[in-house]
Amino acid sequence: MLLRVVIISLAVIAGLWLLKRAFSKRSSAKDAQSSADTVAQSKLIQCAHCSARLPATDAVWRDGQAYCSMTHRHLGPKG
Ligand SMILES: [Zn+2]
Repeated sequence: MLLRVVIISLAVIAGLWLLKRAFSKRSSAKDAQSSADTVAQSKLIQCAHCSARLPATDAVWRDGQAYCSMTHRHLGPKG
């Protein structure tokens, strides 16, 4: 009888520990995702040709100017 109580207690503790681990893993992944979104949003730049806004990481660069595509990079700044 006592052994049964000990085994059930251990099972409950192990279950809670696994749940806690799963939740903490999920929340840290969510935090990493939201901070990545914040970085992407804070680095929006404008295409020098068509003024389209895009993340700096997606831009094509030439002579210090950012472009949205290789086509606009080839056409150069507007005006
Ligand atoms: Zn463009």
